[in-house]
Amino acid sequence: MDARQEALRRAYEHAAAWLASLDGRPVPARASVEEIVGALGAELPDGPSPPSDVVDLLATACEPGLTAFPGGRFYGFVIGGTEPAALAADWLVSAWDQNCVMRAVSPAYAAAEDIAGSWLLDLLDLPSGSAVGFTTGAMMANFTCIAAGRDAVLRRAGRDVARDGLAGGPAVRVLVGEDRHMTVDLALRYLGLGRPEPVAADDQGRIVPEALRAALAAGGRSPTIVVLQAGDIHSGAFDPFAETIRTARAADAWVHVDGAFGLWAAASPRYAHLTAGCPEADSWATDAHKTLNVPYDCGLAIVRAPSALRAAMGKRGDYLIQHDEGDPTDKVPELSRRGRAFTVWAALRSLGRSGVAELVERLCRHAGAFAAGIAGIDGARVVNDVVFTQVCAEFGSDERTERVLARLLADGTAWISGSTWRGRRVMRISVSNWSTTDEDVTRTLAAIRRACAD
Ligand SMILES: *Cc1c(COP(=O)(O)O)cnc(C)c1O
Repeated sequence: MDARQEALRRAYEHAAAWLASLDGRPVPARASVEEIVGALGAELPDGPSPPSDVVDLLATACEPGLTAFPGGRFYGFVIGGTEPAALAADWLVSAWDQNCVMRAVSPAYAAAEDIAGSWLLDLLDLPSGSAVGFTTGAMMANFTCIAAGRDAVLRRAGRDVARDGLAGGPAVRVLVGEDRHMTVDLALRYLGLGRPEPVAADDQGRIVPEALRAALAAGGRSPTIVVLQAGDIHSGAFDPFAETIRTARAADAWVHVDGAFGLWAAASPRYAHLTAGCPEADSWATDAHKTLNVPYDCGLAIVRAPSALRAAMGKRGDYLIQHDEGDPTDKVPELSRRGRAFTVWAALRSLGRSGVAELVERLCRHAGAFAAGIAGIDGARVVNDVVFTQVCAEFGSDERTERVLARLLADGTAWISGSTWRGRRVMRISVSNWSTTDEDVTRTLAAIRRACAD
């Protein structure tokens, strides 16, 4: 066996052992950064080492410092796991090592991206013919879509941003719900648009249509972008799309939807009502590495008018071999990047239409079970309307909620983070992993009950 094959074989064995350990191991990492640095060794070696030894050292030294993110009892932030076909496809992506810039040079990549893109539009009920760019995550998908929107609204005002830049041009107003995700603000910062104007949201974080109408009316005819949200990270709530998009369109605004995890509601007949009206927007950001459960990293930037996306992200290079209708690189900020669409194709091919719907419904069912279980604990209260995959709970006072969270983490059965929502500390549960079972939910609820025992 040559050195490369031996290294790959070791990597396979370590990966299989890691995945097999997920159900039994404590969810939090057991070792500190310093301990892992010590185990890896901080000295740069003077000379080469055999690849398989390097793989062995990496796997054994890092193992205690790994968090069981891809296991069934990780409910922090919004974190998906790794669906088996997608994980295996991701290994091929590394072995194939395709440069995905141009259609002409990797026909296989372009084909997978075309197919996965059209399947996504179908499943998410978005306009066929929209452009789908494969980004690192929803943060960069927000950036990409809002870049297309910024340039489009300024073009309508007679400004060519690609040629003339922003300085000296008309100001762009950006209206956002006050409970938007912080990556929207970050995208606006990168795009030179500064701070957005927050519009009032209701007790579940949904933008208030009348407040949006009033804010739009106050702006006269200035170029405007409205950012809506499908899936609030605390409540899981969805903005009222039909009404707000109608209002925004009447004001000639570009409408972008941040649907990092919530856009997937559209793939389930049972939850599709949550995204009603959403397809009328101009652009949508979502993640494949959350609800669809492909490995990191993969976000999706979807823009109704492909020409608007290409105007913002298109590239020219005399040394490139460019396709008249645009290349994969013309839909994303990067030039070279990883073949992310292969992994998305594999997840969708493996799950099929019914599998994606069933995945969304299962995540929601587990969230409902968490809410019911927590409501039965003395002194505990679920503070959001559980409409999708997110549950927030408090335990009588901020201090007690903190204590319950700390005990739960020390217990190790599950990983759940705290947050501050509507002025108080909450336990925030996000069910996003394909492999979470009823048994995982039962075990986690038992751990929460133990953490509550004073
Ligand atoms: C996770 C999330 C993001 C950011 O996504 P990344 O993939 O981490 O870049 C943006 N918006 C919402 C609503 C999210 O949940």
